[in-house]
Amino acid sequence: MALKGIDIFKLTPKKNCKECGSPTCMAFAMKVAQGSADISACPYMSDEAKAQLSEATAPPMKTIKVGAGECEHTLGGETVLYRHEATFVQRPLFGVCLCQDCVDEKLEKTLKVDYERIGEREYVEVFYLTYRGDKDAYVELVKKTQGKGRLLVLDCKDVDAAAAALEVCGAEKPILNGATPENYQAMCELATKCGVVLGAHI
Ligand code: SF4
Repeated sequence: MALKGIDIFKLTPKKNCKECGSPTCMAFAMKVAQGSADISACPYMSDEAKAQLSEATAPPMKTIKVGAGECEHTLGGETVLYRHEATFVQRPLFGVCLCQDCVDEKLEKTLKVDYERIGEREYVEVFYLTYRGDKDAYVELVKKTQGKGRLLVLDCKDVDAAAAALEVCGAEKPILNGATPENYQAMCELATKCGVVLGAHI
């Protein structure tokens, strides 16, 4: 069960030393309760308190790494499903949906949107590649979008086509969004073999 800030505060060392980046132990406890700070930021927390807190304060959504190299992103770690409930821990990524029919026109335009705003780079970080039933055309689509510094998401429920696309991706580690109640065993095997994160159509 989630602990309240006051419960977490009771387990802090109460030194108010600021080494965790918060002005007081109480402020730190409130941040931990909200999910915006990790208990490991306090170097003086006892092992007993850590053991008690790590389970109780773990976010219900697991934190995962996706992609590789410059396309690597951290997802999850959230305590809520919707933005209006609380601030997301991870900033949502911008994505564009591409398929064999639109890639030539949309890819060029998408790559032009790349600028800096208040110190942050604004650009499309994700290419969501939709399978249209033609394996060869899908592999071509993947090739066209590779090497552009974007995380690829393979939207493909066909196991053979997904395997061919993953072979082309190599070490880029895309997300494979293709499991269904009918194919999940084969998709799980494929994702495990290729070391990629698997998403499901439910
Ligand atoms: S580092 Fe620990 S003891 Fe120091 S203020 Fe933060 S929570 Fe309190």
